Amino acid sequence: MTAVTVVGQHALVTGGARGIGAAITQRLRAQGCRVTVLGRSAAPGQALAEQDPDGICAVTADVADAGQLAQAVDQARRRFGPIALLVNNAGQAESAAFLKTDAALWQRMLDVNLTGTMLCTQAVLPDMLQAGWGRVINVASTAGQTGYAYVSAYCAAKHGVIGLTRALARELAATGVTVNAVCPGYTDTDLVRESLARIVSRTGRDEATARAELVKTNPQGRLIDPAEVADAVAWLCGPGAGAVTGQTISVSGGEVM
Ligand code: NAP
Repeated sequence: MTAVTVVGQHALVTGGARGIGAAITQRLRAQGCRVTVLGRSAAPGQALAEQDPDGICAVTADVADAGQLAQAVDQARRRFGPIALLVNNAGQAESAAFLKTDAALWQRMLDVNLTGTMLCTQAVLPDMLQAGWGRVINVASTAGQTGYAYVSAYCAAKHGVIGLTRALARELAATGVTVNAVCPGYTDTDLVRESLARIVSRTGRDEATARAELVKTNPQGRLIDPAEVADAVAWLCGPGAGAVTGQTISVSGGEVM
């Protein structure tokens, strides 16, 4: 298959204006992609688009709402053309003991992490099939590769993302579209800062102790830098990764081998 460069290609990054998503947006821009960032709130995406109007477009939608998504994807296509790369990065992580995990929390975790990934991929895949080339990268988690206590709904959803990745990679193998998952360990973003705040308020531990507990899961003893996740995503987008599909790449300091 001919190697396709990402320069000038249109990438859609869900949750692309904050945290890991913002690092991915920055990295794909540096590689020459035009990037649409999608989130529920307008302000963070608009701030990026104002700094780089020719390279970044911001749209708003909840990834779990097919109607909002269809409008946002149309708007993105009108701005930068058909979408060649999709990074399903939007996600949330709520924690609760299993017996305190009610149906609403369960559904919220499935909606944003798993159904959102499915709906975004369905919305964008026709562009890639038409072009005969595309990249879908799902930002799952080590919580999709192993279990953690007190996040059963999040773990179930992220395991689902990896199952979807594998099934879709097989289904699309002969189309020029690859589908892979990147699985970060605890990464230095708002999501982890909010988890730390919850642990502190629920357990009465101080922040340093709570942080040390999280960092202990990583054999390298540190939080992952969002830029490290973005590097793995960028490699999967590039021409050298054309034979890589259906894989899960753990960016976790060796936590999950
Ligand atoms: P973050 O800093 O909290 O950012 C989450 C992003 O997702 C925001 O831009 C947010 O924008 C967007 N988002 C959330 N819910 C959405 C929805 N329903 N529809 C559209 N956009 C939505 O989180 P992060 O740490 O960067 O996490 C990014 C991804 O990495 C997630 O899938 C997460 O599960 C995964 N991950 C994170 C870690 C970690 O330790 N940080 C570890 C493993 C995996 P709006 O609020 O504007 O919607």
